[in-house]
Amino acid sequence: MITEALIEQFRVKPGSNVNLKEFPTDWAGTEAGKQLGKEIIKQRSEEVLARNRKELESTQELLYASNSHSVLLIFQAMDAAGKDGTIRHVMSGVDPHGCQLFSFKKPSLEELDHNFLWRFMKSLPERGRIGIFNRSYYEDVLVVKVHPEWIDEAQFGKPDRKFWEKRYEDINNFEKHLARNGTLVLKFFLHLSKDEQKKRFLARLTDASKHWKFNEGDLAEREHWQDYQKAYEEALSATSTRKAPWHVIPADRKYVARALVAEIVVTAINAMKLEYPKVSPEQMERLAAAKAILEK
Ligand code: ATP
Ligand code: MG
Repeated sequence: MITEALIEQFRVKPGSNVNLKEFPTDWAGTEAGKQLGKEIIKQRSEEVLARNRKELESTQELLYASNSHSVLLIFQAMDAAGKDGTIRHVMSGVDPHGCQLFSFKKPSLEELDHNFLWRFMKSLPERGRIGIFNRSYYEDVLVVKVHPEWIDEAQFGKPDRKFWEKRYEDINNFEKHLARNGTLVLKFFLHLSKDEQKKRFLARLTDASKHWKFNEGDLAEREHWQDYQKAYEEALSATSTRKAPWHVIPADRKYVARALVAEIVVTAINAMKLEYPKVSPEQMERLAAAKAILEK
C-alpha cells in the first residue's frame, strides 16, 4: 500500500538540488517496483485510485461545507505525459460545483500587458473549492526559459540569472501568500521518459482516433528535451517549499501516476483537519422549531 514514506520519495525536499535522473519515470523499474511485479502494481494502483476517488467525494464536500480553505493543484509536464487524463481520473467523483479547472496556453496580448502572475491570480479557487491549474505560472520559468527570445527585451532587458531568480522569488512569495491565506498548494510534475513520449506521439500518428491529439509544435519542443529537463530541475529546486511542495510523479505508466496523485491529494486535504461548521445552541433551537412546524 502507499505509505507516507513512499510519498516522501516523490516529494522534492525544500532547498535540495534536483537531479531528475534520480527520480524514476517508471516506478515498476525501481527496486521496490520490481519486487511487486507489474501485474500487482497495476492492480494495486487501480485499487488506490478507486479508494481515493471515493474518499475525495466526501473530503471535497467537507472542504465546501467548512468554507474556510481552498486547495490549488498545479500540474506541469512535458507533452503527452498525461496531465489531462490524470486530472480527469482523479477528479471524476468530485461534484463539479466544488471544482474549478483552468488550462493555461500561450498568453494573450492583454495578458502580456500585465505582470506574469496576473492571469493566474484571477483564476484562483474560491474558499471551499479545489482549483486545478493545467499548466501554470511555472511556464514562465520553463518554456520561457527554454525560449528566452520570447521575453520582451525592450521591457525586461536580456534575461540573465538574476531575472530568473527574481521570478522564482516572486513565485515563492506568491505561494507563501496563498498558504497564509488558507490555500493548500500541491504541485505535480508528471515525469515522463523521452522514450515513452516517443511511443505516445507515435500512437497519436498511427491510431486514427488519436490523430486529433497530435500537434506538430510538440515535435519541435521535443528537440529541446534536455533544456526542458534542466529548466524543470532549476524550477523544482528553487520553488519546492514546505507549504507548497513539488512532487515528481513517475508518469510512464498512467495508472501509477493517477494513483499517486490521488493518494497525495487526499492525504494532504485530510491532514488539514477540516470540520463541518458548528451549530450553535440558538441555531439548534431554531432547527427544532422549524421541524415542529413541518410536523404539525
Ligand atoms: P494538450 O497538448 O494535452 O492538449 P497542453 O497543455 O500541452 O495540453 P497545448 O494547447 O498543446 O496544451 O499547449 C499549450 C502551450 O502553451 C504549451 O506549449 C505551453 O508551453 C504554452 N504556454 C503556456 N504558458 C506559456 C507562457 N507563459 N509563455 C509561452 N508559452 C506558454
Ligand atoms: Mg500540447
